[in-house]
Amino acid sequence: MDLGIAGKRAIVCAGSKGLGRGCAEALARAGVEVILNARNVDTLAATANDIAAATGVKITPVAADITTPEGRAEVLAAAGDAGVDILVNNAGGPPPGVWSDWDRDDFIAALDANMLAPIAMMQALMPGMINRGWGRVVNITSQSVRAPIAQLGLSNSARSGLTGFVAGTARQVAPDGVVINNLLPGIHATDRAKSLDQKVVDDEGISMHDAKARRLATIPARRYGSAEDFGAMCAFLCSQHAGFIIGQNIMLDGGAANISV
Ligand code: NAP
Repeated sequence: MDLGIAGKRAIVCAGSKGLGRGCAEALARAGVEVILNARNVDTLAATANDIAAATGVKITPVAADITTPEGRAEVLAAAGDAGVDILVNNAGGPPPGVWSDWDRDDFIAALDANMLAPIAMMQALMPGMINRGWGRVVNITSQSVRAPIAQLGLSNSARSGLTGFVAGTARQVAPDGVVINNLLPGIHATDRAKSLDQKVVDDEGISMHDAKARRLATIPARRYGSAEDFGAMCAFLCSQHAGFIIGQNIMLDGGAANISV
């Protein structure tokens, strides 16, 4: 399918690995120029080179912490005045734990990363999208927004805040051609999934094989998702074909959450 977005420009936040990288690759394959962000300079440069070599499109790496105002300013400066048509918001996920583990600073850090950073990026870029009458925003959130995961209280809290903001905002900007949706990953085979599985191993004294087998048993598709699966859906939501999909929360979880709508 021709996604109809060749020649557009995108910012992909937190995209040197995992789901963000999957989104950047899929957009680049569709002919979209990508300003690619993550913190580690070497990993980011390697990913940017890989994607540019594989697709032939321009990938501009910007090593910065997207959860800070300074980091976001660097990413936006790299985009320059030429306009950004597509924004993929992402950042690392907060640590797991129990309800009594976290103090105010932990909540502020989670809110900064998984609620306030994506909101700030939307506020910075959507005026230009509105002026041009076309824009696409995909926020990477989590299945925990619709099917909360007990040990991810920080994630549940921060991402629910972002979801609430998007619910109203998506409807306010839709008349101007700007389409915002959230993608909710279930378990995907990335470093984040490895660290969550490792926590189960450490907490319960079981093997990694058993921890994964137990998780697989909860996923009807009987596999972890891949960054490619995820990127393909992201690119579709950024495409010309997604203009009637407004403010949705789309689960990519292999059927794990047993919810009907
Ligand atoms: P990942 O494989 O660990 O990759 C995270 C990426 O984000 C890396 O490129 C990392 O690079 C970058 N990053 C992290 N913090 C950053 C920051 N402050 N500023 C800029 N870049 C940053 O993680 P993932 O699995 O792709 O997860 C992406 C998001 O989806 C996370 O919020 C995660 O909680 C959520 N999620 C994942 C799953 C899953 O199963 N994988 C399920 C539900 C939700 P640097 O470290 O170099 O910055």
